[in-house]
Formats: sequence, structure tokens, C-alpha cells
Amino acid sequence: MPETVAVIGAGLVGCLAAVALAKRGYEVTLFDYRLDPRLATTQDRNLRSINLAISARGITSLEYVDKEISKRVLKDIIPMQGRMIHDLKGRQEAQKYGLFGECINSIDRGVLNNSLLDEVDNLENITLKFGHKLSQIKFTSAAKQTCVFTTDEVSTTEEYAFDFVLGCDGAYSSTRAQMQRELRMNFSQEYIDCCYIELYVPPAKEHNPEFNGKFAISPNHLHIWPRGNYMLIALANGDGSFTSTFFGPWSLVESLDTRSKIQDFLITNFPDAVEIIGLKQAVDAFESHPRGALMCVECSPYHLSQGRAIILGDAAHSMVPFYGQGMNCGFEDVRVLMQLLDKHSGNRAAAFEEYSYKRHIDLVSIIKLAKTNYKEMSHGVTSSLYLLRKKLDTLLGRALKDKWLPLYTMVSFRADIPYHKAIQIEQRQKRILAYLQAAIIAMTSLGGLGFYKLLRRALNNRR
Ligand code: FAD
Repeated sequence: MPETVAVIGAGLVGCLAAVALAKRGYEVTLFDYRLDPRLATTQDRNLRSINLAISARGITSLEYVDKEISKRVLKDIIPMQGRMIHDLKGRQEAQKYGLFGECINSIDRGVLNNSLLDEVDNLENITLKFGHKLSQIKFTSAAKQTCVFTTDEVSTTEEYAFDFVLGCDGAYSSTRAQMQRELRMNFSQEYIDCCYIELYVPPAKEHNPEFNGKFAISPNHLHIWPRGNYMLIALANGDGSFTSTFFGPWSLVESLDTRSKIQDFLITNFPDAVEIIGLKQAVDAFESHPRGALMCVECSPYHLSQGRAIILGDAAHSMVPFYGQGMNCGFEDVRVLMQLLDKHSGNRAAAFEEYSYKRHIDLVSIIKLAKTNYKEMSHGVTSSLYLLRKKLDTLLGRALKDKWLPLYTMVSFRADIPYHKAIQIEQRQKRILAYLQAAIIAMTSLGGLGFYKLLRRALNNRR
């Protein structure tokens, strides 16, 4: 008899985990409290139209689970080769992401989730149950864990027993909450002072020969309007539109409490964006669209003993979206766990134990990196020191190939380098860069001697 597993949450990570487990022969039931999103009206879909950047870790993990599935679900991605920085005067400046033309990719969250659900439907050993909200898990030391769900009809509950439970139910995970009653799980939750609001950039009003006719601005860049402690970003959709997101402190957003204040704020700070969004539409969006909160969740361990339960994705490590890694990291969780199940020949207790032990350092590393990247996106990208450092980083990266890897490259394009290793390598390179940077400044101000001395110190400190 195959082992049975309840996967809680049919979001991005839950779907991939369900497919990966089904392909290993487990009998999977995938639960979600939502109704089937594939049946939603177009209007409902537009309300949740966030698009995401998928990069090497996400793609490698999809391919690891199934190359053909990966091809199908990623068929509509739009490659983005770099950032496009918009200044106050509407001037645009491109900054490449990769050393050798590597791209991250824009994909519609809803489209990706629906394609993954279609793949779930194709597998006979997955049963999909929408309208089932996990309310309790009765963990026992015996083989079976009983999951209790409230169903669509509010008063009804249903119970199912499984060999084990995989919680992929997002940042406010009920699986995690149930596990916390069973084990001494360290846990922290931190809201950052940042609110996000989505805006919609329609396709170009007239045929725009520059960008495939239909896009108002380049589809192959992640657009950023950096304005200090707030910013606007935009990622392209296949139909010529863009999903744009405003990020800023709650006090700022709350101070914009009349239409005229919002209007003045948008025209003053994002004049070229307002032009392509439309002033009325931009103000309407600011006034009426949901205001999202951003938070980080850290916890440890991620599993219950005897292989009874484990959490993956946002349930285990919610992070702010500024490195574009939340989903990528969640997909990587699935790959890492499957590799450990294989390594331990299906012994869940051993695989889960090793997962918690090994994965923690990488998860806390990416949560930290994501937090730091807000400063870089909203402010750093325009500072001359940052730009000089980036130029040096790129120069060295191109010249020294694998011996010098910019942090962005390691995080976004190198799935073979764990997040914590990327930080270690970056710290070493940062020290060298700081010397080189100072050397260049010295060279221009003090002349050749200063440069020579600093360069010698840099090389002596290189370890
Ligand atoms: P979720 O997507 O939250 O899915 C959880 C699922 O569980 C949902 O379907 C929910 O209905 C279900 N569920 C919840 N509770 C229950 C319950 N009690 N019972 C049953 N079902 C339940 N990541 C990137 O990699 N790249 C990006 O560019 C990026 N951009 C982002 C931009 C923004 C503004 C935000 C907010 C996030 C962004 N992320 C990005 C992060 C990414 O969205 C998340 O990391 C990813 O969605 C996590 O997937 P998940 O499946 O773990 O959780």
C-alpha cells in the first residue's frame, strides 16, 4: 500500500510538492480553502494579478520535478535582462542583472498556479479538494495523523487520516500553528513598515514599434521608480500590460487621505508612470485597491519527529519580496526535500530531520537578504557609490568568471550555490571591493602612490 499524505495549500509550493510526491508513488490529497481559482471570473482574477519573477532556483526545481511540466508551466514567461531605472524627469537607465546576459523572468502568479493545478489534475494519485479549510490536526505517535477541515458549508467538518502531513499553507499557516502545539518550535513574526498597493499599466495606447507594438515600456526589464524610502516597480504581462506595485511606509500611505493629495503625490513622484497608467486610474487604484502588509516569518525546526509532518514555502519562511525569492525558495524547498527522501530511501523521519537541520541556515540567509534589498531597490540603485561598486563587481565577474561572483548572480542565477554560501562569498568579495573602490577614489584624488598602497593592502587582505 502506498503511503498517504495530506498536502495543505494548493498554492504554488503546495502544487509542486503534491506533484513531486505523487511522482514518487505517494497517495496525495491536496486541500485548499479557496474554491478552484481556474473557475474564477476574469474580474476576480484581475484583483489578484500579481506577477512574480521566477529565476534559476525556481526553474531548476521545476525541472527537477519534471522537465516536461516545467516547459509547459513556463511557456509564457517574459525574460527580464535587468532593471530599468526611471528618474524624476522620466529618463530611463538600464542596469543589467547578469554578467553574461542571464535573465530573471516575469510570470503571472494566477497563470502559474492554474497551470500547476492542471498538472495536478493529470496525475491519478492526487485528489484535489477545494473549499476545505484545515482547522485542526490530531497528531498521534501512531501511524495516522487526522486532519480536520471546515468545508464550504460553515457548520460542516470533515476528518481524514494520513500517514503524514505537508503544510504549504502560506505565511499564516494553520499546519504550523498545529505543529507548534506539539513541539518546541522557535518562531518569530515581524511586520516591516512597508505597505504595497497594486496598479495596472494597460497595453500601449497606440502601436509602439519599439516594444513589440503592444508594450508602453520595455517588457524585458523590471522597471523601478526609486524614490528613497518608497518606490514603484512594474513587471510585464504577455498581453502588453504591466503589473505595477507601489511600496512605501504605512504612515506615508495613510497620510494620502484625499484624492487631491494622492494625485499630487503621484504626479510629483512618478510623472512618466502616471502617463502610461492614466491619472484617474492611478488615483482610483491608490484609493480603492487592497493595501498589503509585508512580514517575515522564521521558525525552526520545520518538522515533527517520526516523519509525521513538515512545512515548506511561506509557511516555513515568509520573506519580503525585494529579492524576488519567496516562491523560488519555496520551489527549492521541494527539490531539497525530495533529494533527501531519495537519499534516505523514503525514510521520512530521517529525511525530515536532515531537512530541518540543513535548510535552516539557508532560509534565514535569504530572509535577511530580502530585507536588505529593499534599501538597494528603493535607494541604492541611484547612488554613485553603489553604481561604482556594481561596475567593479561586473568587471571582475566577467574577467575572473567563476572566481568572482556578484551576489545577485549567486542568488538569482546559480541554484547550485546555497543562499548561506552566497552570503559568505559576498562578504569576502565585499572586503576586496571596498579596498578597490577606495583605491580608485585615492587614485583620482591622491595620485598614483595612494593607489599603489591601497592596492597592496587589498591584495594582502585577499583570502
Ligand atoms: P501561498 O502562495 O500563500 O499559498 C498558500 C495556499 O494555502 C493558498 O492557496 C491558501 O488558500 C491555502 N491555505 C491557507 N490556509 C489554509 C488552510 N487553513 N487550509 C487549507 N488551505 C489553506 N516570490 C518570488 O519568488 N518572486 C517574486 O517576484 C515575488 N514577488 C512577490 C511580490 C509580492 C507583492 C508578494 C506579496 C510576494 C512575492 N513573492 C515573490 C513571494 C511569493 O508570492 C510567495 O513566496 C509564494 O506565493 C509562496 O507560495 P506558498 O505556496 O508557500 O504560499
